[in-house]
Amino acid sequence: SIVLGIESSCDETAAALVTSDRVILAQHIASQDEVHRPFGGVVPEIAARAHVERLAPLIAATLADAGMSLDDVDAIAATAGPGLIGGVMVGLVTAKALAMAADKPLIAVNHLEGHALSPRLAEASLEYPYLLLLVSGGHCQILLVEDVGKFRRLATTIDDALGEAFDKSAKVLGLGYPGGPALERLALQGDAKKVPLPRPLKGSQEPHFSFAGLKSAVLRAKQSGEHEDADIAASFQQAAIDCLLDRSKRALAKVGPVNALVVAGGVAANKAIRAALEGLAAQHGLPFIAPPLTLCTDNAAMIAWAGLERLARGQSDPLDVAARPRWPLDPEAETVRGAGV
Ligand code: ATP
Ligand code: MG
Ligand code: FE
Repeated sequence: SIVLGIESSCDETAAALVTSDRVILAQHIASQDEVHRPFGGVVPEIAARAHVERLAPLIAATLADAGMSLDDVDAIAATAGPGLIGGVMVGLVTAKALAMAADKPLIAVNHLEGHALSPRLAEASLEYPYLLLLVSGGHCQILLVEDVGKFRRLATTIDDALGEAFDKSAKVLGLGYPGGPALERLALQGDAKKVPLPRPLKGSQEPHFSFAGLKSAVLRAKQSGEHEDADIAASFQQAAIDCLLDRSKRALAKVGPVNALVVAGGVAANKAIRAALEGLAAQHGLPFIAPPLTLCTDNAAMIAWAGLERLARGQSDPLDVAARPRWPLDPEAETVRGAGV
């Protein structure tokens, strides 16, 4: 089968055509980094307008690249949440219109499920269940992925997401927006042992993450004027890695048998984080799977893939399906003080 995927939940407008054989036939991603840079972060209303302007031509270009028309696709999948609701609506309404016009099934995809299943698009050998570290701009969770739509959340953050901590720390260091990749580059030139920073919740009995204290410590280190920026960046990244390793170790000890340790989401593009988790997986005798960098940050191929997995199970959605600003992968998970879902 072939699915057209559409992504518009944050500041990437994207379309992709993907086959059930894991071939990305064509894809286009329009990043809005330049649009939001003057504001130091994503402005929802401006993002929604940019999606409106860009999405239709980008879908047309994707179909043209593959030499296809809507008649050739088996379904249309779009992110229906969670995310900035204006942008989500643009993508979902566009998908509904195309599905109606071409008489194709519509699949409303959870953006987080897109991230969570992206490693299966990248790696055909990855079977359920797997232990997933979902680290992105809005989330930091450890999930047992048992099947499509079947997630057990083992941990979440009680305050900031990891990508948020990277972005805020980068801002403190004057690295601009978006900060994660820039901070990673700067960290390469620094000494991770030079700046003492906290490892919040490391060794804790509870399973969760916390990054607000780390972010504040970065601000104090910068304001003290005693440290090189590169050393702060390297020390921050190492502190974040220590927390990820500690929390992942705990989860691996508690969870039943899994087929792999997997990382996904925008922060999974970080090479130091990937290397650290690869080491952890090796210690546990598990394969380590991380999608290529372009599948980590927001993209439409992962949305098309989630659509393909649902289509293969005979699932699709009615044309009046609603956009959802919040949409937890594991609705049964306990709410955690101060935490997003
Ligand atoms: P969510 O998926 O939770 O809704 P989002 O879609 O905004 O949030 P993603 O696109 O998945 O987030 O990830 C973006 C985040 O990833 C940003 O916080 C960005 O700084 C971070 N990021 C991207 N590349 C890197 C990197 N190399 N190192 C660290 N962080 C990175
Ligand atoms: Mg982005
Ligand atoms: Fe995302």
